[in-house]
Amino acid sequence: MIDPSVWGTLFIVATPIGNLEDITLRAIRILKEVDLVAAEDTRHSRKLFNHYAIDTPLTSCFEHNEAQKGEYLMGLLMQGQSVALISDAGTPAISDPGALLVQRCRDAGIRVSPVPGPSACIAALSMAGLPTQQFCFDGFLPPKSGSRRRILEQYLQQTRTVVLYEAPHRLLNTLRDIIAVLGESRHLAIARELTKLHEELFRGSAVAALDHFSQNRVRGEIVLLLAPPQQEVLEETVEQSLLRLQEETDLPQKVIIKQVAKMHGISGSEVYKESLRLKGK
Ligand code: SAM
Repeated sequence: MIDPSVWGTLFIVATPIGNLEDITLRAIRILKEVDLVAAEDTRHSRKLFNHYAIDTPLTSCFEHNEAQKGEYLMGLLMQGQSVALISDAGTPAISDPGALLVQRCRDAGIRVSPVPGPSACIAALSMAGLPTQQFCFDGFLPPKSGSRRRILEQYLQQTRTVVLYEAPHRLLNTLRDIIAVLGESRHLAIARELTKLHEELFRGSAVAALDHFSQNRVRGEIVLLLAPPQQEVLEETVEQSLLRLQEETDLPQKVIIKQVAKMHGISGSEVYKESLRLKGK
């Protein structure tokens, strides 16, 4: 059909991140009313469907078939059918499949409507006790330490709370990189298994977190939140920043100079001169 006014709507439906009761009334109604539900893993979503007696047909739409499946779903939408997109947990398109499909539907003029609900990012931020007025969400950090450390370096000057997703088997290595780059005293929170039986929140320094999570094998789903640097850090002089990073991190001197320059809004050569002066002291 070439008349967009009769095209169907793509609903982006948030589903529980652990506790099956965390779903909105509207989400249940939409999932029952649409012609088709595109799910990241149809077997996984069957549990939710059984719990709420939803018998709408399911089709799979996951990372590796999103482009191709998207074409098919857009064809249905243009024929006037309505489609709901769900992921295994939380809000689709947030570190989950869906962003590409949404973009393509928008570009084609197909209506896309959100059915908001849980997202681990917001759930963790809301209960961790870190500043929430300004935050940024960076999804998953790279699995390789070198690339991960390069991203972490950007957080030296970050004054917002940083929310990250992390896999349990990578947590300890990520904490080691945080200590190496941001220093052992950087405050953070780790929210584990939110809304589930073993829900846990750890708050403290990076080094205390490494100690805590080294005791047993880390299991479950994890959101890692980095607190902004403490006020004393934000107020320190160039000399104090240099000394702190040299003392607390494993960063090479070249990187320390670059970061201190960024933190203080001055040139690298000025910081370099200051570092030579300190050496001579
Ligand atoms: N789209 C989802 C959302 O909106 O929350 C996130 C999908 S992402 C593939 C999955 C990651 O979210 C997990 O690896 C974990 O970092 C985080 N996560 C999901 N459920 C969680 C929970 N119950 N507790 C803590 N973290 C959770």
